[in-house]
Amino acid sequence: MNDLTAPDAEVDERAIEAALRPRSLDEVVGQQRVRDQLGLVLEAARLRERAPDHVLLSGPPGLGKTTLAMIIAAEVGAPLRLTSGPALTHAGDLAAILSGMNDGDVLFVDEIHRMSRAAEEMLYLAMEDFRVDVVIGKGPGATAIPLELPPFTLVGATTRAGLLPGPLRDRFGFTGHLEFYAPHELERIVHRSAGLLDVPTTGEGAAEIASRSRGTPRIANRLLRRVRDYAQVRGDGTVGLEVARKALDLYEVDELGLDRLDRGVLDVLCRRFGGGPVGLSTLAVAVGEERETVEEVAEPFLVRLGFLARTPRGRVATPAAWAHLGLTPPSAPEP
Ligand code: ATP
Repeated sequence: MNDLTAPDAEVDERAIEAALRPRSLDEVVGQQRVRDQLGLVLEAARLRERAPDHVLLSGPPGLGKTTLAMIIAAEVGAPLRLTSGPALTHAGDLAAILSGMNDGDVLFVDEIHRMSRAAEEMLYLAMEDFRVDVVIGKGPGATAIPLELPPFTLVGATTRAGLLPGPLRDRFGFTGHLEFYAPHELERIVHRSAGLLDVPTTGEGAAEIASRSRGTPRIANRLLRRVRDYAQVRGDGTVGLEVARKALDLYEVDELGLDRLDRGVLDVLCRRFGGGPVGLSTLAVAVGEERETVEEVAEPFLVRLGFLARTPRGRVATPAAWAHLGLTPPSAPEP
């Protein structure tokens, strides 16, 4: 039985992902600017013997936001408490977490832009004054009991910094925007992960995986595991150029790193909607995916490649997208 068919494959995959996470800022590959800035914030807090300022990390999925939150907690020497925006539906959900915090703890709120309004308002006060007002009862008889909190550091992660209300954004002392990784950085990540997984990998094999990883370490690590499967089952166990190419073709990851979803979006946009403009919701229904998945996973990379443009009237395929699909764009309409 291999990784893919084992009943606990998903658990295994998550355990492997956790094992591959860098544990200190020095181990983090790339993101030099954010690393330098964050390093300074942490060092200054250490010298002052205070909890570091609240940190907001933004950027597309899989670029290392959770990893950095874990590193912040490790550098501070405090436990990391994890929650996510969608889990904070009521102010009480947040109050329960905050009231259990100890001095210097680090609270990580993933997808912070998806938190409810009530939780958000409670968080303003908690971030600024280390205090929450717990409301007991309802209607005219309701009373607010103030609860003091120990100083803590909030690390918020978001794929959509633009969606955060200004008052929340302003309460973060430091915002780090994570960028897609350059191919040579991904190559280093593949080599590092291959070393940790004990998979013999050639330079060309690692470069091939890196070039198809959409600028994203999580994808690089995942592709490495799939190529490792292929190398073990159909090859001699070594991840080389030929094996990487064949495996990635088999998994339908093309030479630019586009996967089925990316190609699906472009295909629908060009073939069904004549290149657009088409609204996001319509596009998502047409590819059979959630709106958020199309917007947060597929689009940033397609925009970055210059294949898709977001315009006020909707999404539009660029000439490069038509060319990538091997199609001819319709002639431009008369002005
Ligand atoms: P999401 O928003 O989807 O939760 P994320 O931005 O929090 O994603 P992580 O979970 O931190 O991303 O990272 C995904 C994987 O990529 C991790 O397992 C980690 O091993 C690897 N990784 C991320 N950034 C780096 C890096 N800079 N250097 C080496 N490995 C990295």
